[in-house]
Amino acid sequence: MTTETREFQAETRQVLRLVIHSLYSHKEIFLRELISNASDACEKLRFEALAKPELLGGDALHIELIPDAAAGTLTIRDNGIGMNRDEVIENLGTIARSGTKKFLEALSGNEAKDTQLIGQFGVGFYSAFIVAEKVSVLTKRTDAEGVRWDSDGEGAYEIQPHHKESRGTEVILHLRTEDKEFLQPERLRHLVQKYSDHLGLPIVLIHDGKEETLNQARAFWTRPKSELKDEDYQAFYKHLSHDWEDARAWAHHKVEGNLEYTSLLYLPKRAPMDLFERDPAHGVQLYVKRVFIMDKAAELLPPWLRFMRGLVDSADLPLNVSRELLQNNRTVEKIRAALVKRSLDLLEDLAANKPEEYAEFWKTFGTVLKEGVIEDEGQKERIARLLRFQSTAGDAMTSLESYITRMKPEQKAIYFLTADTLSAARNSPHLEGFRAKGYEVLLLTDRVDEWVTSHLPEFEGKKLESVASAAADVESVIDTPEKAAEESAYKDTLERLQKVLAGKIASAKLSARLTESPACLVAGEHGISLRMARILKQAGQANPFGTLPILELNGGHPLVQRLKEAADESAFSDLAHLLHDQAVLAEGGQLEDPAAFVKQINKLMLEGLGSKPKILLG
Ligand code: ADP
Ligand code: MG
Repeated sequence: MTTETREFQAETRQVLRLVIHSLYSHKEIFLRELISNASDACEKLRFEALAKPELLGGDALHIELIPDAAAGTLTIRDNGIGMNRDEVIENLGTIARSGTKKFLEALSGNEAKDTQLIGQFGVGFYSAFIVAEKVSVLTKRTDAEGVRWDSDGEGAYEIQPHHKESRGTEVILHLRTEDKEFLQPERLRHLVQKYSDHLGLPIVLIHDGKEETLNQARAFWTRPKSELKDEDYQAFYKHLSHDWEDARAWAHHKVEGNLEYTSLLYLPKRAPMDLFERDPAHGVQLYVKRVFIMDKAAELLPPWLRFMRGLVDSADLPLNVSRELLQNNRTVEKIRAALVKRSLDLLEDLAANKPEEYAEFWKTFGTVLKEGVIEDEGQKERIARLLRFQSTAGDAMTSLESYITRMKPEQKAIYFLTADTLSAARNSPHLEGFRAKGYEVLLLTDRVDEWVTSHLPEFEGKKLESVASAAADVESVIDTPEKAAEESAYKDTLERLQKVLAGKIASAKLSARLTESPACLVAGEHGISLRMARILKQAGQANPFGTLPILELNGGHPLVQRLKEAADESAFSDLAHLLHDQAVLAEGGQLEDPAAFVKQINKLMLEGLGSKPKILLG
């Protein structure tokens, strides 16, 4: 076969240009990327050799860096898996990944960030063109002919058969004149230490006929903790996660005994892009006896800890373990339980000792952790202690424990209010009576809070109760001696209301929870909250209880007193609907007939401005 010239895929060209352009002042990362590819290739070979041990024959797996000052080239050589012709075209000529577009969109213009993105989106190979005016790749798989690939990164590449003795890949960089510094042994030594020291296989510099191993060549996590500095952990974190920021915290454990494994868990600072996607990939990397088995082994961590990054290296799992095998495996279950415990330990430690950092964590990942209350009965207690909420006590977030320390002696329950936004919550009429009593109320604005509160009926023996529910306990909190007298005075009005608003409310009653507003809606004692009913409706699901809300009135409010005095049926009906509709709005709901509401408001305004305010006079 002869030499064939092929065009890069259009998207590839675009990525190439961006990579070269945006990383110009971080040139050195090309070495990290190419070494990381060589290391991946060795891991892949190691993995294939599990089934075919004969593949491993010959030299031990390693990576060589060969600077050649005379030729002006730097070669990165590995004896890993290699590529056949199709693979070369697929991997180096196209970007088949759907991630490419996302990558292009994600480029921020911030070079430090963009540098990491390049690793994250798997366009690492092209970073070679930052320093090279021409790149040649010579590669061979054990079972195929050798292939040679050449390109100047401008728009096309050449591909041809190439006789190569041994398995593996050689990437030859023809360095630009201004980038000859990457031929200096000192520079290469320094860069390997900076970026690749933690790799589990030797990186050998071949220079002046001498061989020098530049790294520790021990998998990072197998090194004794006493030997590892914070910078080392951070560098390994970046390698593992492709994050550009430091990790917030980590936990490194070696377990020996009847179960033998090492776990290294990291808590990132930054949320990945897919955190709230429907089926976000999650879990940690799995190694078996140092051999990389899979990324994101979901069985090793529950979805509510999907923000954790890290790895597990097990000595007990079989090397041929598959995703299917991970399910219902006793060893995996035990490791998972331990990882959950260690993640919670880490979070508790942060909350106790670095509350500001914990608050930052909470802002980024709190909503995810909350899912644990719903999904993990066994950990509910521990997670509940880690929850943080806004409250009426101030602007700071509070834990349930510290809420309890502020409870009034006679206060029976931990009160909360759910709403779509914080300002809607703070202005909710439902708070009025509680505010008057000096009771603190937690303000919950995440959608998931509806489920969290229904799975957390109590905390430390204290009930959690919604201030927007008709639960008797909430009601009796606010005692009014005049209640009985007021009730008989309003008996008639309440019955009329129930008729006029039939189909919209289950009943109408007087309330002591209001001090300023005329009316509010509350959920029936056994019904779901009104907000939950709305969320279900939006999701196209039926309200399983199908219950209507209760309209509560503030008997002391002038508008409600007017209602009582309204003799004219149509005036009564207008005012009743207005009170109902504004209660719906105040509670964050949507009106069934907004136009009718507007019409009535306008009528009222006109009458108010003009001579005869009919509605109010009845
Ligand atoms: P990523 O490493 O994230 O997949 P890269 O752009 O760095 O993206 O590499 C693209 C692909 O090229 C790799 O996935 C791999 O299949 C192939 N490749 C690159 N370098 C080598 C190598 N040294 N040996 C074998 N395959 C390689
Ligand atoms: Mg790569």
